[in-house]
Amino acid sequence: MENKAPKPLTPGWYRDFASYLQEIFGCRVHKISLDAGFSCPNRDGTLSQKGCIYCNEQGSGTGAWARGIPIAGQIENARGFLERRYKAKKFLAYFQSFSNTYAPVARLEQIFEEALLQEKICGLCIGTRPDCVPDEVLGLLDALNKKTFLMMEYGLQSACDKTLALINRGHDSRAFEETAGKTKALGIRVCAHVILGLPQESRQDMQHTADFLASLEVDAVKIHMLYVVKGTGMEELFKGGRYKPICRDEFIEAVCDFLERLPQKTVIERLTGDPHPQELVAPSWALGGKAQLLADIRGRMVERATWQSRLFGQKS
Ligand code: SF4
Repeated sequence: MENKAPKPLTPGWYRDFASYLQEIFGCRVHKISLDAGFSCPNRDGTLSQKGCIYCNEQGSGTGAWARGIPIAGQIENARGFLERRYKAKKFLAYFQSFSNTYAPVARLEQIFEEALLQEKICGLCIGTRPDCVPDEVLGLLDALNKKTFLMMEYGLQSACDKTLALINRGHDSRAFEETAGKTKALGIRVCAHVILGLPQESRQDMQHTADFLASLEVDAVKIHMLYVVKGTGMEELFKGGRYKPICRDEFIEAVCDFLERLPQKTVIERLTGDPHPQELVAPSWALGGKAQLLADIRGRMVERATWQSRLFGQKS
């Protein structure tokens, strides 16, 4: 069921995540973001202490673990709200903060199993770095995948190694390719996180990242715009005049370019980011209405008479 092309290909079409989950579970499913108190080798000194150039000390985290809220409590706190607001019937436990495979396997197993025991949890999404998935962790993921829905979310950000070095990712595109390949070989879904608008990236560089992911046949893609957050290396670059954020129209074009290069079966988990207003330095348009931005992306695809997969397989 998951690899079927669900709709006729018409201008503006892309394979959205909500519909994909509806196909699998037969109801509205929502993710619950969780913080399990993990760290990251790019922050704890193993690879670096600076972190990726766009990441602040919260590591995209909610901070719930540091406030003493266990996984069960975090799920319970979010579930009622999401049921009321989005009419969600089931939930995916999304381990989002920092690198969620960066711990001893026994601790990982205990945390993931705790999440799966909670009411209405129907699977796991686990965000991590592609260089943080050793074979013993893959063994655990294999076992989890045999009994529940599992999506591994690996940060790639760009397939251009010069960009990865510039943003201090601490791994290259080859690391992503290897880990994605091993994960897919076990039948586990792989989602790639990508950022559009990275420093010194051209439109062709972003298209290259799309072609790279298309060639690897990742199951899903999550696209963010780069936003400059307080207390990051990006803030220094921006304030020093060494980085000009992507403008809204350029971002929309880049998203259209990206989607038309991906295969029809790739699920699009996200097309925008959600910066915290108090943390955002630039671009200010990133705060200006997610629904309108999504409508404008779809509208531009229609104007360009394009859809996801229209250029799949054609070299840029
Ligand atoms: S890998 Fe993730 S948590 Fe670690 S520094 Fe980079 S963005 Fe932050």
